[in-house]
Amino acid sequence: PEVAALVASRIVDVPDFPQPGIVFKDLTPLFADGDAFREIIDATVAHYGAGSFDVVAGIEARGFVMAAALAYAAGVGVVPVRKAGKLPRATHTAQYALEYGSAALQVHTDAFVPGQRVLVVDDVLATGGTAEATLGLVERAGGVVAGLTVLLELEFLGGRARLAAHEPHALLRV
Ligand code: IMP
Repeated sequence: PEVAALVASRIVDVPDFPQPGIVFKDLTPLFADGDAFREIIDATVAHYGAGSFDVVAGIEARGFVMAAALAYAAGVGVVPVRKAGKLPRATHTAQYALEYGSAALQVHTDAFVPGQRVLVVDDVLATGGTAEATLGLVERAGGVVAGLTVLLELEFLGGRARLAAHEPHALLRV
């Protein structure tokens, strides 16, 4: 569809970043284009339907860019899922393996009203480790996962298989 072509046209491949042999997909040109940004936000809200989620959870850091715009467009609030050590109050923590390295994510224990329907958003779904960790955090904090949405899914890394219970939505799959 048109939005997939739009996303594809605004992604820049960066060879050997952050390590030799990795081709990093740079989405900053997509965010920087006002018309394109509006289209990706509107297409994502339209996919789920405003009213199908109560809050948006964004994954640090590029997920924050999407999360705030999605939340504003849908008239709901936004919750940050942050790298370890950044949130000031009591947190749940999930350790996970990355495509390159390992990391930990956190969410405030009281981030969600129990039963609140949470749309989780990030820029890229690669191995799925980040998303899997985040979905677990949302559930531990009392939220109900309403969906997981990304701009770009790198299908060859198999992330979707790790998230089987929560069919991810991607504007572009390559
Ligand atoms: P995963 O945990 O392997 O699925 O990696 C996804 C996380 O790493 C997301 O938070 C992305 O922002 C980031 N990431 C992995 N590969 C890329 C890429 O090629 N471009 C931009 N971000 C990426």
